Amino acid sequence: MYFIFDMDETLAELYTMFYFIGSLRLKDTVATNATNATNAIPSTLTKSLNKAYKKFVAAILKEEVSNPLGILRPGILKVMSKLDKQKCIIYSNSGHLQSLEFIRDLINLHVGSKLIKQCIHYYHPVRENGDKTWNEIKSIINKNDLKESDVYFFDDLIHKDLYENLTHYYKVPAYNFKASFHRIADIYREAIKDVNSEMYLTYIPLLVNRKPKSIENMIRLFKNKTNISDRSDKVPLPDAGIDMMMSAIKNVKTRKTRKKLST
Ligand SMILES: [Mg+2]
Repeated sequence: MYFIFDMDETLAELYTMFYFIGSLRLKDTVATNATNATNAIPSTLTKSLNKAYKKFVAAILKEEVSNPLGILRPGILKVMSKLDKQKCIIYSNSGHLQSLEFIRDLINLHVGSKLIKQCIHYYHPVRENGDKTWNEIKSIINKNDLKESDVYFFDDLIHKDLYENLTHYYKVPAYNFKASFHRIADIYREAIKDVNSEMYLTYIPLLVNRKPKSIENMIRLFKNKTNISDRSDKVPLPDAGIDMMMSAIKNVKTRKTRKKLST
């Protein structure tokens, strides 16, 4: 069985996250729009940013487990823990691959295995016309005898071709809680402690188009560009979308047991 998840408003709400992820994955993020510029980024900077990224992922996960930030849809980590040994894929219309990979990294770190196997973003080579289709899923999974009933699909939107073809299409309610910028900024500051600030500030304009005077200045710039009001709204509780995912998992497990009993 294959579990395929949309990202935005289904697995997570990344509105607050773009500049944090984009800056830590600076080279890859910038490579999408300006190839020449990325060659200029020193490998020492990329290496120390990679380390900072790992710390950032671990620290965000720690919060999501204990005192949720709400980047991940509440309840999603429990769903993932139940999915062990299924093949999971993130299939998103986001153009920022590093955002998909961030969600993958959080989930895989939590479950302690490579549960999420593939991240298919908008510019992935299998993508054809923008909308998600059964044909694309067939090329993503690349298995000759794949049936329409082998896929469990979750999305907050209806993608017509998939909706008509798939046996198990779950349209979940859109999850759109915006995580607190300042809580994430605190985690980010801690994660980049060992990054050479001068070097970082030299190359960050590739992402933000302007040279900040200090790290604090850079974080403020992220905030202005994100345009988020930092009210301290409470993270919502697991909703009907989580119930749908849990019942899909149950459905798969029952089918398996029945199969075993009948053979
Ligand atoms: Mg979506």
